[in-house]
Amino acid sequence: MTSFSDLGLAPEVQKAVSEAGYETPTPIQADAIPPALEGRDVLGIAQTGTGKTASFTLPMITMLAKGRTRARMPRSLVLCPTRELAAQVAENFETYSKHVNLTKALLIGGVSFKAQGELIDKGVSVLIATPGRLLDHFERGKLLLNGVQVMVVDEADRMLDMGFIPDIERIFSLTPFTRQTLFFSATMAPEIERITNAFLSNPAKIEVARRATASETIEQTAVMFRASRRDLAPQQKRAALRSVIAAEGEACTNAIIFCNRKTDVDILAGSLKKHGFQAEPIHGDLDQSQRTRTLDAFRDSSLRLLVASDVAARGLDILSVSHVFNFDVPTNAEDYVHRIGRTGRAGREGKAITIYETRDEKALDAVERLIGKKIPRIQAAEASEKPASNSIPDIAEELKTAESQSRKRRGNASSRRKPQNAPPEDNMVGMGAHLPQFIAMSFDERLAT
Ligand code: AMP
Repeated sequence: MTSFSDLGLAPEVQKAVSEAGYETPTPIQADAIPPALEGRDVLGIAQTGTGKTASFTLPMITMLAKGRTRARMPRSLVLCPTRELAAQVAENFETYSKHVNLTKALLIGGVSFKAQGELIDKGVSVLIATPGRLLDHFERGKLLLNGVQVMVVDEADRMLDMGFIPDIERIFSLTPFTRQTLFFSATMAPEIERITNAFLSNPAKIEVARRATASETIEQTAVMFRASRRDLAPQQKRAALRSVIAAEGEACTNAIIFCNRKTDVDILAGSLKKHGFQAEPIHGDLDQSQRTRTLDAFRDSSLRLLVASDVAARGLDILSVSHVFNFDVPTNAEDYVHRIGRTGRAGREGKAITIYETRDEKALDAVERLIGKKIPRIQAAEASEKPASNSIPDIAEELKTAESQSRKRRGNASSRRKPQNAPPEDNMVGMGAHLPQFIAMSFDERLAT
């Protein structure tokens, strides 16, 4: 097996790697680092979670440890689609370069323009940026890109989704033709292929297995939701999610809940809070300080539920998420893989529960084709609309009843699925008595039904 000492990295970098606790390189690191150190272009087809960040930061630090910086002319450039990802890459540089003297600047929205500008004026070895911010700086004449020796494009497929490809092409054309390019993408869409053909020169092409095939520690389930009335569908769906979370009980220590739309992220987070859950939203329209506060709270476990859009959650490195809930089935099957990859990291157990409706079945089929396995589907009973009355049973009561029935059936076996954060009154309007009962059952029981 390859070890870090076989890769040609500087001893200071190897020392930082071993202090970070890494014993062996991941496949993308083993395959990408040697050609990168030889000065070759690299095309890495890999997702987050594979160790791809270190596969470009480690050789870059080794190469940049030699040489001097020049005012306003960064020697290398790392482009990331989101601020969070850029900040994470900066942290990686911080960790692995602690034994070498390397100057870095971060150009992202929400971080002081002035302070970063001053750093750039003095000269930096590594500039980490989102494309828009970088071009802003360039256009103000604060930055010259003709000293760039190494350029990294991280998560190019996400750049494509976000409409950054023209910016990337422009940035490519502003850097020297002789630069080395390290290019990473989870997928090779035709547009991405076009860019790599145009701007990479005879790259070492490295493809690593998808996370979905790698992570067998994630238990995946899909719960069918059917509204009783169209106009009540949104609130009934939120109630269904609350039941699902409640049914997971204490096993759900912290979770990310994904929505397809930003507006739903806000609505759902607000609704969960109203129902007594600790929840905060995260998406691209929130200001940076709020996003940082929310993420810090989530990381230090003072926040239990993070309600997120795909873009905001992309690349977040949070090691111990017990659950991922998909409030919506993602329209792009790849996103499902990214979403559930937030749990079950580094060999831990994780659970991913997706709420789906009849109209989502095609999207769910596409997910199954992509991950190459069937996701057990729980067919919840059709919601029946309850008569408008004040006597709508509390979901906690329903869960209790369902649980005691279930316990009786199992011969009084103890259950860890006690409803937690039991939501009040209006919750189960229209859901019928069956859904909570269903959810209160154990996984095996549900499958057997
Ligand atoms: P990435 O794919 O870059 O987002 O990395 C995913 C996670 O793997 C991060 O938490 C890294 O700290 C961790 N990691 C990266 N390389 C290694 C390694 N060789 N051994 C163990 N963990 C690693």
